[in-house]
Amino acid sequence: MSELSRLTGVGPKRLKAFEASGLLTLRDLVYYLPRRYVDRTRITPIDSLKEGMDAFFPAHIESADSIGTRLVVHVRDETGGIELVFFRGLHFLKQRLRPGKRISVAGPVTYFHDFQIAHPEWEELDEDQEPRGGMLPVYPMTEEMEEARIDHKLVRRLALETLEQFSFSDPLSPDEKNFLQLRSEIEALKILHAPTSLDLVATAFSEIKVRELWPLSLKREVARRERLNRGRVFTAHPETEQAAHSALPFSLTKGQEEVLQSIHTALETQGQFFGLLHGDVGSGKTAVALLAAIRVMAAGAQAVLLAPTEILVEQHFRSTAAVLKAAGFESALLSASTPADERTRILEKLKDGSLPFVVGTHSLLSSGVVFKELRLVLIDEQHRFGVEQRAALSAKGIEPHVLYLSATPIPRTLAQSLYGDLDVLTLAEKPAGRLPVKTRRVPAEKEKEMLEFLFRETQNGNQVYWVVPRITPPLSPPLEGGNKMDNETESIAAIDSAVKRLRNVGKWRVEAVHGRIPSQERERILSSFRKGEIHALVATTVIEVGVDVPGANLMVVESADRFGLAQLHQLRGRTGRGQSQAWCFLLAPLNGWPEETEERLREFASTEDGFRIAEMDLQRRGAGSLDGTRQSGFGLLRFVDLLEDSELIREMRSKAAEWMHAQ
Ligand code: ADP
Ligand code: MG
Repeated sequence: MSELSRLTGVGPKRLKAFEASGLLTLRDLVYYLPRRYVDRTRITPIDSLKEGMDAFFPAHIESADSIGTRLVVHVRDETGGIELVFFRGLHFLKQRLRPGKRISVAGPVTYFHDFQIAHPEWEELDEDQEPRGGMLPVYPMTEEMEEARIDHKLVRRLALETLEQFSFSDPLSPDEKNFLQLRSEIEALKILHAPTSLDLVATAFSEIKVRELWPLSLKREVARRERLNRGRVFTAHPETEQAAHSALPFSLTKGQEEVLQSIHTALETQGQFFGLLHGDVGSGKTAVALLAAIRVMAAGAQAVLLAPTEILVEQHFRSTAAVLKAAGFESALLSASTPADERTRILEKLKDGSLPFVVGTHSLLSSGVVFKELRLVLIDEQHRFGVEQRAALSAKGIEPHVLYLSATPIPRTLAQSLYGDLDVLTLAEKPAGRLPVKTRRVPAEKEKEMLEFLFRETQNGNQVYWVVPRITPPLSPPLEGGNKMDNETESIAAIDSAVKRLRNVGKWRVEAVHGRIPSQERERILSSFRKGEIHALVATTVIEVGVDVPGANLMVVESADRFGLAQLHQLRGRTGRGQSQAWCFLLAPLNGWPEETEERLREFASTEDGFRIAEMDLQRRGAGSLDGTRQSGFGLLRFVDLLEDSELIREMRSKAAEWMHAQ
């Protein structure tokens, strides 16, 4: 039986409605805060009323007439008159709203021929009685609550009674409250349920936010302080590092150099490094991470690179092999499809320290994986892993330095809120010489033309990615064990259909990859795609993450409206890595897109700036929608808004530091 049964006026029916709305405890109830308030503190004379205004005034009834199915009541104060219109309960109302009576009227003013108020709240008043006003809280109401006839007044009464009658122990100590200049929790909540002014609401609500942020800020500060005294220092090993550099098939961009320099400096300085390397798709994060790992290995320690999909892991393994070899280091790949005996061999070598580097999927997280001296943890596409998964890997190290890689461009303000305790390193530029990708929206009836264009292009050596959305929502929980790619249910039917349409165009090689294809087969297909033997590859979003095939410069996205813009940007970033002009086609469904989608995709097509696109997504869907916010550990904030309150988040961080310092 929930705690709320202790309240008067809450019977089984209402109790159930509260429960269904997530209100189980008295604490839940008092923290069920109004969404807004109706200001009934000020009386507006009738002649000052305007359309849309929330009116509140006392007046005399002049007339009340039934007109068809309506009751029209004329009221007047000293300044003028206005019409009140009722559509329901006419019989009862006509009895009560008699000419000559004085009432208070409250409700939004609309305009229909003239100003009127439809279904106002009203109350009979004596001749010299003040209308009863105040700030009226408007609570979020669920359907269940409405059905159980729980209204705003009831919620407020219950919340206030609870705050009066039951003792809540404030989670903050008197010292903390003093330091943060907060009133008591009960006082702040009372204000929010029954304020006397909106100014008070604002201060009380920001206190609730402070209360929400404080424990998190402290936790982060504790972790930050711990890191200061930890971690092994790694100084340069010029020879090995030089060998690695020379084995890269390109020279680093200035941005890569700078970021690598910051990481090196951090490794040379006392303290555990905790960084987020954050750069648009194709900005070359892997090379930076690899070179950071080289330094750690050169000193005899181990490094690990975790990535979310087998495809990506295989690619990392391959693309890092030459550099590692040149620097004299062995590496291994560990995933769910690693054969058992191979796995055993790898685990042994990780344990005795003879294997300095391993790339793997979440298979790395299993308890059988033990390192001798793991000092650097690299996590690619970090937002694809849960907080616990990332922590589990770090826990295998000895005070390891940690570098997260992320291709989701996060607007600066948000990055600071989310990752304030991390060193955020940004790779802004992309390697030179890349042509911008041309993005076009293609109506369904132009598909044939597009297909022919693609076909011709592939005759000159270009290759096509054809992307079909997954059926499950993209934010389904990532990577819970299992050896299927991402555990996702994929649109096999859509894939089959696309393959058929493509094969109809001419004699070219079209293949598909999706989670149901065994990994060896998948790998075989990808590897021949990489070698240029396959002209078009139809896939679900498995290619979204990090896959790198410079020969593939053409992309088609089906049902582009099913992707967030940031995600589309990731997809598009697969192209534009080679020498020839890259194209990205957003294929519209048969009956076109809704205007709103059309608008969004047009905007997307007009820019390749990942940060700009992230901001567009942010405006449209809010901070919670951005990949990474959920996993930041800040994703569950109830009252604090990551964007709007970024200033407060920063402030609390420094307050936490100050507080810890004084302890
Ligand atoms: P991301 O940042 O998206 O993980 P990658 O590390 O996969 O990007 O790099 C994308 C592509 O750019 C790869 O083919 C990589 O070899 C190439 N690349 C990386 N750095 C450079 C560079 N400095 N010059 C030219 N190409 C580079
Ligand atoms: Mg990458």
